[in-house]
Amino acid sequence: MKWRGRRGSDNVHDMRGRSAGGGGAPVGALINLALRLFGVKGVLAIAALGLVGVGLGVVDPAMLLGGGGAGQPSEYRGTAEEDERYEFVRVVLADTEDIWTEEFSRMGRRYREPELVIYTASIDTACGAGDARMGPFYCPADQKIYIDLGFYDDLAGQFDAPGDFAQAYVIAHEVGHHIQNLLGVSGQVAASRGQPEYNQQSVRRELQADYLAGMWARRNRQYLESGDIEEAMRAANQIGDDAIQRRSQGRVVPHAFTHGTSEQRMRWFNRGLELGSMEGADTFAIAYDAL
Ligand SMILES: [Zn+2]
Repeated sequence: MKWRGRRGSDNVHDMRGRSAGGGGAPVGALINLALRLFGVKGVLAIAALGLVGVGLGVVDPAMLLGGGGAGQPSEYRGTAEEDERYEFVRVVLADTEDIWTEEFSRMGRRYREPELVIYTASIDTACGAGDARMGPFYCPADQKIYIDLGFYDDLAGQFDAPGDFAQAYVIAHEVGHHIQNLLGVSGQVAASRGQPEYNQQSVRRELQADYLAGMWARRNRQYLESGDIEEAMRAANQIGDDAIQRRSQGRVVPHAFTHGTSEQRMRWFNRGLELGSMEGADTFAIAYDAL
């Protein structure tokens, strides 16, 4: 993928080298709880009551408003390779901003850009503790994508899916979850948690995020290089539930799927790539067996 010299997003925050639960952890936990229960308003209400130390400088008010880490230089010193990946992530996120801003205005809506946090090892999020072993994830409660750059080593090594476009696909997939959050899909799926249909709902949500990633790839094709689509397809193939179960447990347990099979993931990414419009994105309207 051609990315050097292109616009990088300002919504990427460098939290590398700052592990979770550092100074002010109880305050952080309180804020997380308030965010989960009452949203930002709740946090501000608690702050107004003086229960958290905004006035004392214990908590940076900017962090309460979701700008944590913005503009602050990180003390973390990455390798040249890591810093390059960091820049790459900024360009990919900027691409998604351009594409989804346009797509949302076509739907008569305004796109709210997600933030993306780069961290190492572990991090506190509004969705609980994030751990690098979980792989990249999106937290609907704070509308942030969390990525540990080490995941890209796993993608190239453990998952045997190297290449910059494989990495870009992963980001585009997580942005897909943000789109779903804005459109209300995530809430519907979350509402079925704990019920028998939850796993199937989750598969539908994941395949839709793959479709949305495919839409992004289509709009981005002017920057594609030969082999890029294959890299993304390979990543989609390697991180299918069946492939992961086969690797981790030595067997495949379809009812435990939450993301879809490798074949399904490749198919939906490809569909997004070919159709390129929201009209084809409804993975919830199709019989489960036909996904
Ligand atoms: Zn996902």
